[in-house]
Amino acid sequence: MNKKIWLSLAHMGGREQEYIKEAFDTNWVVPLGPNVNAFEESLINYIGEDKKVVALSAGTAAIHLALLQLGVGLGDEVICQSFTFSASANPITYLGAKPVFVDSEADTWNMDPVFLEEAILDRVKQTGNKPKAIIPVHLYGMPAKMNEIMKISVRYEIPVLEDAAEALGSEYNGHKCGTFGEFACLSFNGNKIITTSGGGALVCSTEQEAHKTVFYATQARDNAPHYQHSEIGYNYRLSNICAGIGRGQMLVLQDHVDKRREINSFYRNELSSIDGISFQTEPTDLFHSNYWLTSILIDPNKTGGKTADELRLALDAANIESRPLWKPMHLQPVFANCPSYVNGTSEKLFNMGLCIPSSSILSEEDLKRVVDVIKSFFN
Ligand SMILES: *Cc1c(COP(=O)(O)O)cnc(C)c1O
Repeated sequence: MNKKIWLSLAHMGGREQEYIKEAFDTNWVVPLGPNVNAFEESLINYIGEDKKVVALSAGTAAIHLALLQLGVGLGDEVICQSFTFSASANPITYLGAKPVFVDSEADTWNMDPVFLEEAILDRVKQTGNKPKAIIPVHLYGMPAKMNEIMKISVRYEIPVLEDAAEALGSEYNGHKCGTFGEFACLSFNGNKIITTSGGGALVCSTEQEAHKTVFYATQARDNAPHYQHSEIGYNYRLSNICAGIGRGQMLVLQDHVDKRREINSFYRNELSSIDGISFQTEPTDLFHSNYWLTSILIDPNKTGGKTADELRLALDAANIESRPLWKPMHLQPVFANCPSYVNGTSEKLFNMGLCIPSSSILSEEDLKRVVDVIKSFFN
């Protein structure tokens, strides 16, 4: 059997182990330390725009602490893009609040600004209260229409928490994803564009928010020599070992973005001529995706009935991993009782879509194997 080709793998740059060794040599084997500080510093420099960054144990933890600071609590509602990974929505429920799901638009696959406004107006009408926050997602690295979304955020005075977990290195209108909202989450899970084996970060707009984030992430200890607590805290800080991996990964982040974009171009060149295949595509020059995962749509009306799921099985038979797009949250059993504002767009994308291998570590030979299987499937 030939070697397995995975969807998205960790890709070390080479320096990661030096930073881990430094942590061992200096006995900084704790959830804070020089690697954490340096990793945060390099993220701050990369993202720019005077943002602050706090490294955390997961992207999910970052979303949780952002919602907490936005005052989300029992009985509140939070608007969330439906077409996403469940980690965008789960933390809303940790706080006793309820997600309200908004559908995507067909070009970016992200939150539809028109539906967003409709949802806000209808929630106010139904409940008498405004939703407490808006969570757009930059899916597979493709920026959401942040100009339109931020206008609505300003008009209704509802803060935005960007889910940029998949979009480190993506840009919209010349600004990095993660710099638009009051807060933004990043993820360094093993399959993301850079990894710390597991980890995340919260991008904050003010020094005060960053301090508060560290406070909540370290069990909410009051300023006292003994352990005193006036609030409930969490244990969400990133370990100094994992941050060492992150420090090394920051040295190759731009290479990873370039490589994933090259992979996306390669697939486009090889596959665009096949009838019934289309790609998630930057709609205009305003959009610059990191193309974390190259995602395609298969239209069975144009492929003689061949479907995305049949292609997935054909790839699997050739020892190549591919994956359906995220199943929209409004179709998930666990969120069946949540309000949703949808028109079938994300459901249709889910039914027609497939993510294909996009690891920055893939060789030209690996990529040729993938396109050969896809071409012969459609022939
Ligand atoms: C990966 C991911 C997260 C969560 O990140 P973790 O670090 O795995 O907790 C959140 N949202 C989206 C869209 C993601 O893809």
